Amino acid sequence: MTKSGKLYVVGIGPGSYEDMTIRAVKALEKSEVIVGYTVYIDLIKEHFPGKEMISTPMRREQERCQLAIDEAKKGKAVAMVCSGDSGVYGMSGLILELARSEEGLEMEIIPGVTAALSGGAVLGAPLGHDFAVISLSDLLTPMGLIEKRLRASAQADMIICLYNPSSRKRADYLKKACDILMEYKSRSTVCGLVKNIGRKEEEMAVMTLESLRDTQTDMFTTVFIGNSMTKLINGRMVTPRGYKNV
Ligand code: SAH
Repeated sequence: MTKSGKLYVVGIGPGSYEDMTIRAVKALEKSEVIVGYTVYIDLIKEHFPGKEMISTPMRREQERCQLAIDEAKKGKAVAMVCSGDSGVYGMSGLILELARSEEGLEMEIIPGVTAALSGGAVLGAPLGHDFAVISLSDLLTPMGLIEKRLRASAQADMIICLYNPSSRKRADYLKKACDILMEYKSRSTVCGLVKNIGRKEEEMAVMTLESLRDTQTDMFTTVFIGNSMTKLINGRMVTPRGYKNV
């Protein structure tokens, strides 16, 4: 009889061991094989000695997921790691699609602290009211739809958290997004960005929407655009919980 395997899909949080959940740590401890993008494997490997680590380069998501499924089907306990939460622009959806007909394969999805939350904590309390999370990557989403979502969120005075704000190929995407947002939001809207959350090189900055427009970011940055109530308190970005003065 073949031993049945188990596949954990684990969100490891923004980067530091301390930001992983206990459940994520326990799943990785129980796993024999850990599969993930090279950068994430490098972040965690010192804490999980003795595990077989399989790292794959970026952009090979489907291959990486299939590899994790195949290893688990051999009867092993396998963890597929993703940064932040595995369901937020992550791979848990793809895994579930690819493993659709693997009836005997046990799977467990373990949530992680997504960049909106870990970055929000670095900035202060920017997400104290309704917020929208939008990715500026048009790799898998048409630009027209991204623009529509930016407009709708800005029109509704939502706090907006931007993932994938720019990359070398998409250097001016943040600028374009800010131009759209400034059609509805004031130029002086309080904004913030956090780079390399939970990692050694962590950096944060707060600024107006107008100056965010001219700021160069990269793919390791998460951007926060406040609502009309968002303010700075001792250098921290704070959105009050309500619109009524209490
Ligand atoms: N699953 C991840 C998101 C993957 S999309 C999560 O839940 O956090 C990749 C984008 O997430 C990046 O372009 C960046 O905007 C954001 N991000 C992920 N990790 C980050 C980190 N440590 N620091 C800053 N931004 C991060």
